[in-house]
Order: sequence, then C-alpha cells, then structure tokens
Amino acid sequence: MQELSNAILRDGIGLGTDVVKVDSFLNHRIDTGLLTRMGEAVREAFADEQVDCVLTVEASGIALALTTAQAFGNVPVIFAKKSGHINVGSDVYSARVYSFTHQRENLITVSRRHLQKGMRVLIVDDFLANGEAMRGLTDILRQAECVTVGAAVAIEKGFQPGGQKLREEGLKVVALATVDAIRDGQIILREA
Ligand code: 5GP
Repeated sequence: MQELSNAILRDGIGLGTDVVKVDSFLNHRIDTGLLTRMGEAVREAFADEQVDCVLTVEASGIALALTTAQAFGNVPVIFAKKSGHINVGSDVYSARVYSFTHQRENLITVSRRHLQKGMRVLIVDDFLANGEAMRGLTDILRQAECVTVGAAVAIEKGFQPGGQKLREEGLKVVALATVDAIRDGQIILREA
C-alpha cells in the first residue's frame, strides 16, 4: 500500500538490524485517516471472504483491527489479552506467545464467550516478525473450532521467518508493506 510505504519511509525509524519503530503513526500516535484506509485495503485483499469478526492481540494490533472491522461492515473486534497469570481458569482459551519486542513469554487469553464454533475470523496485527503472535492467535481459533479466514498485518518483516512459515502452512497472509532490511538505520521496503 503506497500511502503506508510513504509513511514508513518518511517517519519510520530503523533500530539496529531488526526493529522498525513507527510509533508516530501506527502504534503510539495513530494517524486515523491512514489507519482507516489501511483497514479498507485489508478489506479489499479479503473481498471474497465472509468475515464474522476480527481477532488481534492487545495493544498495538487494536487500531488496525478496528478499522478493518469497520471496513467489513462493523463486525466485532476481539483482542486477546496478555496475562501474567499461569492459572487462567477454564472460561478462557489461552496460548503462550514469545514476544519479539519484549523478549519474554506472554500468555494470551480470549474469553470463551466471545468465540463460537464455526465463526469465520480474520486475524490482524501491526507487525509480523517470527510469527509467534499469529501462531498463538491461530491456536486459540483452533481451540474454539473457528475458521481462520487469513491474517493481515500492516508491516511484515520479510527478513524474519514468520510470514513464510505461515504461508507454507497454507494460511493466507497479507502484508500492506514488507520491510526487506534495515541498513544503517535506513528501512529498505520491498517493491509492491
Ligand atoms: P512475532 O510474534 O511475529 O514475532 O512479532 C509480532 C509482534 O511483535 C507484533 O504484535 C508486534 O507488536 C511486535 N513486533 C515485532 N517486530 C516489531 C517491530 O519491528 N516493531 C514493533 N513496533 N513491533 C514489533
């Protein structure tokens, strides 16, 4: 998506060799117009699909999940909660997710009340790196016997293996922009 690519090149910051900071428009300060159009772009990419709800993980996936859900005609958004508790009880689905940015394991949970068997769910997140968050979310959908329609992310880091692994497993994964490398602080984007 050209508008997102422009924003990444203009405002994104490359940290070291593998972290992209886009907190001036995506995950701290939010450019609401851009996020609205990103949600519409996700809708176009999954135009043929029936989507009953959008699933993400708190906190930074929520903005794109919301605009995507609006583009699909105001379907609900469910965001998995990050829980420090090991004993989460029987009223939730849960999965362990290793966080790339925080370098620690989180337990993510979704209340069983919100996911019904057979529901068609689109997963949305801000970044796709090693695919841990996606894996946790697909695992929760499997537990709930929902249909995973696919996964959409704002930014895929193409030099990390998550996207390729998920596609090889047959999941439709759509990235609105793909970062191929970070060199000397400069973000190198894949051509659309
Ligand atoms: P994964 O689970 O695919 O390894 O990483 C995706 C999750 O980690 C996303 O939910 C995102 O919040 C975070 N993340 C991964 N890489 C980056 C990055 O380069 N920048 C930011 N801001 N978040 C990232």
